[in-house]
Amino acid sequence: MNTRSLRFRITAWYAGLLAGALLVFGVSVYLGLERYLNWNLERTLGSECRTIGTQLLTQHPFKRTTWLETEIDEAYAPEVNSHFIRVIQEGVGVLYISGAPKDGAFDPSQVPLPDGEEKNRQRKIRLGEGRQLLIDTLQFTAPDGSRFVVESGVPYHQIEVVLHGLLLTFAVYMPFIISLAVVSGYWLMRRSLQPVDEITKRAEGITSTNLSERLPVIRTGDELERLSISLNRMIERLDQAFQHINRFSADASHELRTPLTILQLELEGIAQSHRLNPSLTDQIGSALEETHRMSHIVENLLAISRLDAGEVKMDKTRLDLGNLAASTAEQMRLLAEEKSIFFRSNVATDIYVEGDRSRLQQVIVNLVANAIKYTQEGGEVEVSVRRDGGTAVLEVSDNGAGISAHALPHVFERFYRADKARSRNSGGAGLGLAIVKAICTAHGAEINVSSQEGRGSHFTVELPLLDVPESDLAKPVLRTR
Ligand code: ADP
Repeated sequence: MNTRSLRFRITAWYAGLLAGALLVFGVSVYLGLERYLNWNLERTLGSECRTIGTQLLTQHPFKRTTWLETEIDEAYAPEVNSHFIRVIQEGVGVLYISGAPKDGAFDPSQVPLPDGEEKNRQRKIRLGEGRQLLIDTLQFTAPDGSRFVVESGVPYHQIEVVLHGLLLTFAVYMPFIISLAVVSGYWLMRRSLQPVDEITKRAEGITSTNLSERLPVIRTGDELERLSISLNRMIERLDQAFQHINRFSADASHELRTPLTILQLELEGIAQSHRLNPSLTDQIGSALEETHRMSHIVENLLAISRLDAGEVKMDKTRLDLGNLAASTAEQMRLLAEEKSIFFRSNVATDIYVEGDRSRLQQVIVNLVANAIKYTQEGGEVEVSVRRDGGTAVLEVSDNGAGISAHALPHVFERFYRADKARSRNSGGAGLGLAIVKAICTAHGAEINVSSQEGRGSHFTVELPLLDVPESDLAKPVLRTR
């Protein structure tokens, strides 16, 4: 679990605060209830003493103690209610003492007589097994001058039972409530952060090639909504900047085309003149070569910029990638043979994709030309096309120079050349793979490369396959050597 995550921290805070609030609430309820029960018990005991004193002792002077016993037993049923009642007449002795309670909570005969100070106040008496008896004592003087002490008491554990019950309820329910709050809080946080997750996923998928896409706006009217709107505005600004750069590259390349063509024609005209001395002819030839190279670069740059800007109208049709690869490979066989490279084509047919024939051909040409260019004499180059589930896979592999691990992530960048000297000698400007990538992107295809320096490279292009009839699925593989 990620303890630094917002989800975890907010849930932890929430659970902590809730636990704190419940604790404060629990303690207040406990103390409040304890006070109330105490007060209520004391009041009940006091009123019992007063009732016995005023109604039975002072107002109805009696002669017989049996009358008093009957009256108290009937009115209070002390044995049943676990009550302790004792009436003492000063100078005479105990007139009445309640019997042992049915639940055996205490033994009335064990309760000591009140001493002088205790005759008009409450006291707690400790009995065996840690039990306590709360006793209220009141003194009365009858109209005939006789003095009585009335005691009324109950076991204190009656309050303790209620308080323990409350504690038990808290102990059981509080962890349950807190766990429930943690789980639901975590779930709620997940739900509320889900739109952010969606934004993140969509934002991950936005690159320089699909800057026209926008993130979903979270309609919450708060920071999240403002964040999604701000991010979208930022993407819009980036989109405009990228379009500007692409347009600039396309315009610059386009503007360079005409003067370069004129320069080329002029140089060709001069080179064909017979009046030049040989050294000047060589210089003109070299200048012409560089001009050719430059026009090639400008053409490629223009092509990439237009592809990136989406200005190129793709002439997409349903075509057989296998057939296209086979015929293109055949056209390039001579190039390989010139270098004594063993050229193999292993192409399945009826691999239908939707694409621009000439652009896809350019992809194959660029990849195969590179494979031949960067493979030593006597090496091997293979072109293959196969179907993999719903994908058409074009592979171009060689056992040539390979690409170093630090260069590999950059080979599709414009003007990137892994080995500058070697690449320039072979006429490369580092635009071939950039064009391949731009065409692949325009076709919704994915291009990948794996390579090991000194052991060769393997380029894979994956295009969405067009549905073909079931009967056409198993077709022969064309193999050429
Ligand atoms: P270039 O015109 O220089 O060949 P590319 O864009 O076609 O430019 O390729 C970029 C770089 O990737 C090349 O300079 C080269 O170093 C490396 N590269 C491309 N294909 C291969 C390959 N098949 N084998 C080895 N290196 C390659």
